Amino acid sequence: MSPAEHADLPVAARVRRFEERVIAAGLATEAGLDGFLDAFLRDAAPVNGARLVARAWTDPAFRERLLADGRAAAAELGIEAGYRLQVVENTAAVHNVIVCTLCSCYPVRLLGPSPSWYKSAAYRARVVREPRAVLAEFGLELPPGTEIAVWDSSSEARYLVLPRRPDGTAGAGEEALAGLVTREGLIGTAPV
Ligand code: FE
Repeated sequence: MSPAEHADLPVAARVRRFEERVIAAGLATEAGLDGFLDAFLRDAAPVNGARLVARAWTDPAFRERLLADGRAAAAELGIEAGYRLQVVENTAAVHNVIVCTLCSCYPVRLLGPSPSWYKSAAYRARVVREPRAVLAEFGLELPPGTEIAVWDSSSEARYLVLPRRPDGTAGAGEEALAGLVTREGLIGTAPV
């Protein structure tokens, strides 16, 4: 989707009208809103999610805290998630994948701006009904016995997948491990 097409979306027009009213009411300025968004996005990148995963792989106590309260655990690493964060862990038995069926909710701070396919109507509808087929289209073929759990995000709760640590990485340090983690792995459309 091009920026021009995005600006034509009903939701974009509604946000723009809301911004204009907030500015007209003297509650914020155009520069203030731009500055807030710039600051939010400057620190928003998949490397944040990857750091959480690498720490969880190397520090069992941190992994426990991350699964119990993602937002608090992220804050330990200086990452302010900005919302309730539930981290869902892949195992041999269960593979997790995230979606927002309603719109496009996404842990932006941990993953950067979402890919366009995440916001597409096709992904949002199909990953719920036929997750195995959708993941196969991403090149992720799961064993028939692996259960797939689909997590539907909302404005209050965002999800992040904790992928399984790849085999053969026993000696790898935290930074090298973080380098293995992809944005798709954190969404659940790739193994790691
Ligand atoms: Fe949403």
